[in-house]
Amino acid sequence: MTSSILIIYTGGTIGMKQDPVDLALRPFDFSQILEEVPELKKFAVRIDSYTFDPLIDSSDVEPSLWTKLAGLIRDRYDRYDGFVILHGTDTMAYSASALSFMLDGLAKPVIFTGSQLPIGMPRTDGKENLVSAVEIAAAKDADGHAMVPEVSIFFDSLLFRGNRSTKYSAEDFNAFASPDCPPLAEAGINIRYNRRVIRYPSDWSQPLTIHGDLDTRVSILKVHPGITPQVVRNILLGEETRAVIIETYGSGNALSKPWFLDIVEEAGRTKVLLNVTQCKSGTVNMDIYATGQTLKRAGVVSGYDITTEAALAKLFVLMGLHADNATVKARLEEDLFGEISK
Ligand code: ASP
Repeated sequence: MTSSILIIYTGGTIGMKQDPVDLALRPFDFSQILEEVPELKKFAVRIDSYTFDPLIDSSDVEPSLWTKLAGLIRDRYDRYDGFVILHGTDTMAYSASALSFMLDGLAKPVIFTGSQLPIGMPRTDGKENLVSAVEIAAAKDADGHAMVPEVSIFFDSLLFRGNRSTKYSAEDFNAFASPDCPPLAEAGINIRYNRRVIRYPSDWSQPLTIHGDLDTRVSILKVHPGITPQVVRNILLGEETRAVIIETYGSGNALSKPWFLDIVEEAGRTKVLLNVTQCKSGTVNMDIYATGQTLKRAGVVSGYDITTEAALAKLFVLMGLHADNATVKARLEEDLFGEISK
């Protein structure tokens, strides 16, 4: 049976086309998608599109966009075999991370893609990214199940788990990296699926549940040489936050100065503190150095090898689900949707 795919167009560089008159980049009319990307007609796939109004640069993404995306997918879940979301690259890793936690019980592909050059440009990477994302979204195994029933990002021939991805380059076509998790698939002459890494549902017929109530009272403290007590106090003890991601050095270390530890201890009494390393790969391990051990004693939870993007999304969803911080802390330690290596 022919697969059916919904392309959801939110905005971003991919959907721009150069106006032949004034050469300005303008949003592209996606109702004409099949004419603009004729390669898509070669697949035996039925394609529908949904265009956001207004289209946005992804630097303007708010959690409300994630709630809207999750609702759109839930309402059309039975009608489509897969979903391709066209999104700006700047916050694509945040949005893909968020949807991975919000779409619980997902058994169909939800693939984010975009491009570094607009789809109307001769050297665009947008066509290749879009065509491959659609092919992967439509791919099924011999039992008729989706090949990649996950939230993912397709970019420059690689498919990454959404909540393991990070924007890595502002100008290269390989804009994304997933340092702690191998690609889920690779598009060469054939598309090679990495079935040892892809997560499959234990029950393919389980219903899709949306976790749409997000508690966004999170801030991020990036430690750095020269950081002052005022800055640390403002971020860690701010009344408007319920959780703080502390971006630490190396394997989860921060300064050992008494003033810093005093503030962390005070904040840890009422807030969720999550330790995420500033390193691009590798994991937090607060047992190695004395500086890490003191953070652990102050109640800071290990983020293991989670990305900051995924940490933010995980906190938003867990805090939306659980009113008590003890449960949030306990669940942060669990690998919920493949976001940490444990
Ligand atoms: N600023 C753009 C956006 O994220 C960049 C892009 O699409 O690549 O929407």
